[in-house]
Amino acid sequence: MTTALIYSEKYLKHNPGRGHPERPERLRAIVDGLKQGKLWASQNIQVVDPKPATRADIELVHDPEYVSLVEKLSAAESPINGDTPVHKNTFELALLAAGGAIKAGRMVLSGEVQNAFALVRPPGHHASRARGGGFCYFNNVAVIIERMKRDFKLKRIFVIDWDSHHGNGTQEIFYEDPTVLYMSLHQDPFTLYPGTGFTNEIGRGEGEGYNVNVPMPPGSGDSEYAAAMQEIFEPLSDQFKPELFVVSSGFDAHADDPLTQLQLSTIAYGWLANFVLKQARQWCGGKTVFLLEGGYNLDALSGGVVNIVKAMSGEEFPLPAKTRPPKVIYEIKLALSGKWKL
Ligand SMILES: [Zn+2]
Repeated sequence: MTTALIYSEKYLKHNPGRGHPERPERLRAIVDGLKQGKLWASQNIQVVDPKPATRADIELVHDPEYVSLVEKLSAAESPINGDTPVHKNTFELALLAAGGAIKAGRMVLSGEVQNAFALVRPPGHHASRARGGGFCYFNNVAVIIERMKRDFKLKRIFVIDWDSHHGNGTQEIFYEDPTVLYMSLHQDPFTLYPGTGFTNEIGRGEGEGYNVNVPMPPGSGDSEYAAAMQEIFEPLSDQFKPELFVVSSGFDAHADDPLTQLQLSTIAYGWLANFVLKQARQWCGGKTVFLLEGGYNLDALSGGVVNIVKAMSGEEFPLPAKTRPPKVIYEIKLALSGKWKL
């Protein structure tokens, strides 16, 4: 068995409300797309039910006071903010999303499968230690990393986040941690929520050089992303030699996404995954976990997930003919020149 898809029907019960872009139909479209592509349970793909994360798992990342706050807000149905409403089942479903992430990590690191995609809601990368926001309650990516570090004694984990919004929560949580190399490709923070993720945010203390931001100008698409993967991602992972890759996979950098001004094609998600999986084969026997973050056009979302799952099963996607490095790549090389050879 090569691939696990972690999924529960319960993830459809998370409903932020009428007109909210982070809606249950997102996961329905993904499952339909995978079924149509015969990628939903096959010889090499198994679908696995998650268990909820425990409070102890969540508290590896979040302050206990914040965890209690989310529980209390859930009981009272009182929102975190206007973007991030809270209902009776929010606490329970946020635990189940983080638990799905943990399940994916355990299956990959125990060798049961080579790679896994946690198809979870609610998403997580905007949640910091003591605060939720941007549709996120608990940081699923951070929970999986802290749990796996302890259970499998990991020392080097590479997180790549290609959601079009900067993963400010993930950055904050690992900002001083040299065991986690966090690289985010996102739309220029001057033009999009949450307004962080500039090239000079490179980590602090022992973590200096382990936080890498690639802010893409609006209008950037396949050729700019391919250049960033070739010029930044590949040399970084060659030098860091990760024991596990975790991908915060949003699909809102797609040209058809209603929330952003980036221009990725649907095929791009296939070759982006190829880049990561190739490095994972080179350094850690292919161990890769993908986690669902954002993505609000249903066709782009389901097409993107289908292409990633195809790549996880071994399919190769052609790169754009010509790659054009955006100016920001030179800024990053300069900002990290004391730490990495890029
Ligand atoms: Zn996003």
